[in-house]
Amino acid sequence: TMPPLELTLVVAATRNMGIGRNGTLPWTGLKKEMAYFARVTKRLPSVLLVQNQPSNSSHPAMNAVIMGRKTWDSIPPKFRPLKGRLNIVISRSHADPPSKDVNPETEAVKVGSLEQAIQYLQSGSAVVQTGKVFVIGGAQIYAAALRLTETRRVLLTRVMTEFECDTFFPLQLSEEDGAGGQWVRKSKDELDSWTGETVPEGIQEENQIQYEFQMWERAE
Ligand code: NDP
Repeated sequence: TMPPLELTLVVAATRNMGIGRNGTLPWTGLKKEMAYFARVTKRLPSVLLVQNQPSNSSHPAMNAVIMGRKTWDSIPPKFRPLKGRLNIVISRSHADPPSKDVNPETEAVKVGSLEQAIQYLQSGSAVVQTGKVFVIGGAQIYAAALRLTETRRVLLTRVMTEFECDTFFPLQLSEEDGAGGQWVRKSKDELDSWTGETVPEGIQEENQIQYEFQMWERAE
């Protein structure tokens, strides 16, 4: 039987959950943080989680990154699609069923909703054998994902330095208010094990900005 598809949100947010400003990130120069994002979203799980293709399929195995149209637009054209991952972009102007012959190395799969993205990955029509499935923003798409039971986990980079923001992650994750008891912060060992790497522990600093790598999971 097929395990249910699971969504992991990946976000970097300030203490009050600020994530964006003027269509871009509020900060610059977090090179190691961005490298962490790239490694974690690329690294395949040891067992492919979404059995949407026969195991002898000629399709490559890749993780998927799902994003809103504005987040796609915020990526410099020379860096998109994000390489080594199946990029899926959500827009209301993508009304038709996704094309069955996209080249994931050169283009994104276009879908009309998050539900359609999930359906595409589970349907057997995806152009890759899918590993992990990440939702990488922005605020509108995080909000849609947080309404789905498929959403189990948030990989949060907590940015400790304050920045002016106009876009916010729609859920407060902080140990102080316990996030309503619905979400719990997992240990460093659990973060390492889920990501498949030894994640630097404690407060990191780059470009005079302090941040910390965290993992949160939905309590049943
Ligand atoms: P999004 O990236 O969430 O994209 C919004 C667009 O997605 C909408 O305009 C629409 O596209 C489409 N969309 C949204 N909801 C639906 C729906 N229900 N059905 C179909 N399509 C839908 O935009 P945000 O403005 O929320 O976030 C962008 C900001 O977030 C930027 O500043 C970006 O830099 C930041 N960001 C920060 C991250 C971080 O980790 N700090 C990560 C990702 C982004 P259309 O208009 O084409 O119909």
